[in-house]
Amino acid sequence: LFITFDGLEGSGKSTQIQRLKEWLEQAGHEVVATREPGGTDNAETLRNLLVSGDTAAWSPVSECLIMNAARSDHLERLIRPALAEGKIVLCDRFMDSTRAYQGGGGKLPMADILAIERSVVGETVPDVTFLFDLDPAIGLGRAGKRNAGHDNSGHGEGGQASEDRFERKGPEYHAAVRDVFRQIATDEPDRCILIDAALPIDSVTLALHKALQSRGIP
Ligand code: C5P
Repeated sequence: LFITFDGLEGSGKSTQIQRLKEWLEQAGHEVVATREPGGTDNAETLRNLLVSGDTAAWSPVSECLIMNAARSDHLERLIRPALAEGKIVLCDRFMDSTRAYQGGGGKLPMADILAIERSVVGETVPDVTFLFDLDPAIGLGRAGKRNAGHDNSGHGEGGQASEDRFERKGPEYHAAVRDVFRQIATDEPDRCILIDAALPIDSVTLALHKALQSRGIP
């Protein structure tokens, strides 16, 4: 079972992934929690190239290719082997981030993104994808507080350093990213569930549990 979590920064994905991991483990499953870009040594090396450079470092198409190179390694070395062993894989960001950020934000043609996606992801399409929907201003506010080390929202995503050059992109960029995530939820209702990430943290957890239970999980 392959479950991915996507959405804007500060939408509380990583907090919910941690909670879901514990919930699924209590039900007796083996769970691997991972993230993109990253998740393997090679992919984390590529992540560092992406998130610690300056804003002008990569064009959208370069970004798309690096994201997909990282994804390919992540799939080969971690995700597919774990799924083959019967583990549940929870992944913080996956192919929908590339559609939203490089497609919506970076304005790459979606057909190009989907062609690369097909060759990299192949059959390993997530069984379930939670799309965390949030006003970008709220998300960036939370992420900013998190990076400054005093996030009181309860939606913190692990106190990472303020390495995020992406957070410095303008409001139109983030609005376009959000629009793509929402569109994906509309276009692929079997795979995707839109989650209102502005709700209190426990309500979001409950929404995730209900959505999974309706699919027979755990
Ligand atoms: O999930 P996390 O916040 O750690 O992602 C790091 C950054 O990479 C985010 O700020 C996100 O905006 C950006 N990103 C991106 N394109 C992707 C995946 C992530 O621009 N395909």
